[in-house]
This record gives sequence, structure tokens and C-alpha cells, in this order.
Amino acid sequence: MDVSFVGAGPGDPELITVKGQRLLAEADIIIYAGSLVNPALLSLAKEGAAIYNSAGMTLDEVIAVMEAAVRDKKYVVRLHTGDPSIYGAIREQMDALDARKITYEVIPGVSSFLATAAALQCEYTLPEVSQTVIITRLEGRTPVPESEKLASLAAHKSTMCIFLSVHMLSGVVKELIDGGYPADTPIAIVQKASWPEQHILRGTLEDIAAKVLAAKIDRTAMIVVGRCLDSDYALSRLYAPEFGHMYRDAK
Ligand code: SAH
Repeated sequence: MDVSFVGAGPGDPELITVKGQRLLAEADIIIYAGSLVNPALLSLAKEGAAIYNSAGMTLDEVIAVMEAAVRDKKYVVRLHTGDPSIYGAIREQMDALDARKITYEVIPGVSSFLATAAALQCEYTLPEVSQTVIITRLEGRTPVPESEKLASLAAHKSTMCIFLSVHMLSGVVKELIDGGYPADTPIAIVQKASWPEQHILRGTLEDIAAKVLAAKIDRTAMIVVGRCLDSDYALSRLYAPEFGHMYRDAK
């Protein structure tokens, strides 16, 4: 394997996978997404490993580092925040490596939307409340396809985890309400989930924007919306006494 794409997890250095941790310690070259990856993870690097922060690099520069490494028979770990498949810009790197016949693997990570559920101590898929989680973002400099506009996704009233959008929260709230969420729908903002400075704000669509403004939260935060943040729900069928299944007879 020439290159391993590794999910670093949401921030807490103990939330990288065991495999990711091992590969990080074996890497000759580490390219990490400096804007969000916890630099504490870099202390796992072996003596003499070369470390690059991709925050100030272009795609071509990242690929050039990988190409040169492979030429020198060095092993590269490309460290992405959370899980690389979510807003990770990993596909364009994989395609560039394919074009150069450089081999790679992907090691998944704990995405920040999961660390956010842990911080909120909530279950996104509550029976009879929502069985669907939508991962999305508001349009920013990166456009969102017309069919996925927040207002149309809101029509489902499912649980939504909205990335990359806290700095445009009033726009998010407007689209959610326009799309059909009642104004009293619960919403939570978790900034830097799993980091020591983790910050949680809870409210409703009506009052959250003012709270977030007052707390000056404008980056690295997850927005979670939906009735799963309320206390009303049905008990799961999985653990219901009268509900038998493959591993347990009905009582
Ligand atoms: N691949 C990453 C997401 C990268 S996009 C993942 O799987 O988590 C960057 C966005 O992720 C941020 O704007 C923010 O919305 C979210 N994010 C990343 N780390 C976070 C954290 N620790 N807590 C809350 N949100 C986080």
C-alpha cells in the first residue's frame, strides 16, 4: 500500500480507530488537514516522519507530495478529520492516485455528526419520531444541487445533521421553517464535539440564532434539528418483551 487515507475522528485523539493509530505511527510522511485535525494526533508520528499541513496546499501540491513519496518508497498517511467520506474532498485525491497507478486504502473514522450525538446523549433514529438521518449543508461557496435545497429536505421532518453552516444559521433556520419544520422544533448546536472546549447550545428554531450569536459560535460546529431532541418517543421493538426475533423469543 502506498497511501492510507485515515479518518482522524472528531477531535479527541482517543477517537481515532486502533488501525488508524497504528498506520499513523508507521507513516514516513503524514499529510493532515490542519484546519480541523487535532494536532495532538501528530505526536504518534515516528521519529523522522515528515509532516505536511494540507490547509495551505492545493490538490496538485498534495498529490505531488504523495507522488514523490512513492518514488522514494515511502509510506504516506493522509489524515482527514472525522470520516473522509463526508465533505472530505477524498474522491479527487483517489482519482488522481488512480491516474498515477498509486495504490491506496481508506480507513474510516468517527464522523463529527456521531461525536455530536454522543455529546448530546441523543439517539437520531427514535422509534415513531424519525428513522432517517439527513446529512447535508447549506449552500456556501460550494453549491448544493437544486433538488437538495434545505427547504425541500426539511419537508421530511427527519433528523438532520447540518455541516459547514453554523456561520449562516439564520439562513438555515429560515429554510427549515420555509420547508415545513414548525418553529418550536428543537435544535442543538455542538461546537468542537469531543474536544476539551466542546460547547453545546440547545433551543428551538425560533430562538437558536440569538443564542448562537450571543455565544459567538461561528465555526466548527454541527447543527442538529429534529424531534429526536424532544423527550417523546416510543420504546424500541428490539428490546420489547413481546417482540421476538432471531436472538430472543417473545415473552
Ligand atoms: N469529514 C468531517 C467533516 C469535514 S467538514 C467529518 O466526518 O466530521 C467540516 C465540518 O464538520 C465543520 O464545519 C463542522 O460542521 C463539522 N465538524 C468537524 N469537526 C467537528 C466537531 N468536532 N464538532 C462539531 N462539528 C464538527
